[in-house]
Amino acid sequence: MRIQFSGANRTVTGSCHVLELNGRRIVLDFGLYQGRREESRLLNEQVADELISADAVILSHGHLDHCGRLPILTRMGYRGPIYLTPATAAVTRVVLQDAAQIQEEDAAYLNRRGRAPGVAPVEPLYQSADLPAVYKAFRPVNYGIKTDLGNGVSFSFHDAGHILGSAYIALNWVEKDRPRSLLFTADVGRYGMPILHDPVPLSQNFDHIITESTYGDRAHEPVSQIEPQFLDAIKTVIARGGRLIIPSFAVGRTQTMLWYLQKFINEKLIPELPIFVDSPMGVQVSEVYDQYRENYDTQTHQMIGRDGLFNQANITFAVSSEQSKQINRVNQPCVIVASSPSCEFGRVLHHLKRSLENERDMVLFVGWVPPQTLGRRLQQAVPRLRVYDRWYDRKIEVRTLHGLSAHADYVELLRFLAPTLKPQTTAFVVHGEADQADAFAARLVSAGVGQAVVPALSTTNAA
Ligand SMILES: [Zn+2]
Repeated sequence: MRIQFSGANRTVTGSCHVLELNGRRIVLDFGLYQGRREESRLLNEQVADELISADAVILSHGHLDHCGRLPILTRMGYRGPIYLTPATAAVTRVVLQDAAQIQEEDAAYLNRRGRAPGVAPVEPLYQSADLPAVYKAFRPVNYGIKTDLGNGVSFSFHDAGHILGSAYIALNWVEKDRPRSLLFTADVGRYGMPILHDPVPLSQNFDHIITESTYGDRAHEPVSQIEPQFLDAIKTVIARGGRLIIPSFAVGRTQTMLWYLQKFINEKLIPELPIFVDSPMGVQVSEVYDQYRENYDTQTHQMIGRDGLFNQANITFAVSSEQSKQINRVNQPCVIVASSPSCEFGRVLHHLKRSLENERDMVLFVGWVPPQTLGRRLQQAVPRLRVYDRWYDRKIEVRTLHGLSAHADYVELLRFLAPTLKPQTTAFVVHGEADQADAFAARLVSAGVGQAVVPALSTTNAA
């Protein structure tokens, strides 16, 4: 066995690991690097020949940092299958379409700014036209089904409870007459979160594990804290006759917030107030969540009955910009879920412009907010804020909801991995900033794993 660590090493983006098992070359995830433009572009464009000629790609889930370089791989000539769960196939289509559009708009913007004589125009990293080749390679496989990759190598997906369709991957093969196994955790979800199942318990021991460590040294607030905080925020806004603005990621978090709102209404904790989802991508991902209800947990099935999670009369999905503008004409307490948490772009901006100087309104952050953004300045209660070319006195109330995360913390990661932490197991710790990865490697050793390594980018491990 040989593992080449080709992404998400000592960082949280660009997930990619290449396995060689019994002469088969298998790529686990092919995610986009996100960060400073120049640096990320260089990393994203570099695709080694051995990846293009790989026998198979196995995709864990549809987040961009796990699937976002697939269009580059197929454009460069990869012709093998891309295995993924059916729900991940649907999520990935929405995510890649959005990413292609952003790449195209970004290149057009840079070219409009002008360039020095003799400098070629900037090409988008990929475009919408590159996507059909990716979709053609999709081979959907349900959870728990063993798929043969040839030469005695097989794998299966198991629900990771991270976003809809997300999976951890169990690989098995025979080497020198001995059964061997490897677990790729990809991203592991929190226990007890709405909509999704908890991560499915491991049903075997593994010789090798490649584990994420996003929160390898942090403990989240309990999931039980989320509901009272959210309920208090919304009741406060209703009492004041204001608007609650929730800047949210479109994939996963938007649907989680809708779940809580529906629960509050069902239990008559709040009146049936208007709810707007004002994000084209949020609308599309909600449709995908509705199509794959078989992935919901029991509590969600009991709560929604046959109606579905997003089919309530009081929820409006704003697709067109006209529908988006109409939200501003609503003169009663309402909830607006719009992308994105940075508040730097997207439809959330025009709602904020109307609400920043209104003390009846509230902006509620429901996850991590990138530094040096309008969202972060709001969170820090900066008194005067600039949006486009105008300054505003901040009168809107700002709150942050704690405990919402799509990633397990170190306690939950150890709970998930506990059955496989044996002295003969080797763990490779990836998908975490260096401090989180190093701390989690130390925790794994304390928990009984034989060896825990934090590999650097492009290093190879042969075993
Ligand atoms: Zn993810």
